[in-house]
Amino acid sequence: MRENRFGASHAFAAVMKSQWIEFISSYCDSWCERCAFTERCSHFAMHSAITMCDGDVEAALQLTFGEPRRPDGVQRPPAHQRIADILGHADPTPKELAAIGREVEARQERMRRLPLAEASLDYAIGARRWLDAQGRRRETSEAAVAGAMEIVSWDASLIHAKIMRALNGRDEQTNGAARGAKKAVQSDWNGSAKVALLSLERSAVAWQTIAGSTTAEAAGALMDAAARLRSALLDDFPRAREFRRPGFDR
Ligand code: SF4
Repeated sequence: MRENRFGASHAFAAVMKSQWIEFISSYCDSWCERCAFTERCSHFAMHSAITMCDGDVEAALQLTFGEPRRPDGVQRPPAHQRIADILGHADPTPKELAAIGREVEARQERMRRLPLAEASLDYAIGARRWLDAQGRRRETSEAAVAGAMEIVSWDASLIHAKIMRALNGRDEQTNGAARGAKKAVQSDWNGSAKVALLSLERSAVAWQTIAGSTTAEAAGALMDAAARLRSALLDDFPRAREFRRPGFDR
């Protein structure tokens, strides 16, 4: 079997590639250590490859996505190069780049001011502060409570990030028209909203466990905040639950 300079065979890379589920990492919770799809996720493979290649991204790309070498030694250009050649793609000018940058910044600013965005940021900050204030309690709690804290800790920032992605993506793709402008369920914004929704639901259960273990009112308040945020998210993205996440929803 032919080995490349990174110690992995091209045949192995080809087999891995055929097993990957496209776009699976776009609609997951990024909690790889708990994921059943690591062997089918190119994102995970790429991260593992970067570690194996001591941070050399180019080498990792070759290891993860590299095509098997042809016996005659003639290599095809990589796919992105061939696509760019076909499309006659030219790099954007500095003026075009600046205009794109202004558009993106203006959109992000507009989205940040939406009630859903503000509520998810408030929740993320509130949850983070509460967790930080727990100090060693997180390590010394009984297993169920420690596990619940791990969940709310993981989800707090993820929820806000996914909600922002959903809001930004929908605004960009529908030219500012809000909900209902495009009804396709399999849109990126519905997918992002679904990831946030699932995390909110498991976080609400986790908060219930935490609230039951303490007399402090803050945990109960955060549980209520998660529930309100879930309702607001469903109001804004009513078809999010119908989105089928590659790999996870079969
Ligand atoms: S799909 Fe699984 S392995 Fe891939 S990035 Fe998401 S959590 Fe990690």
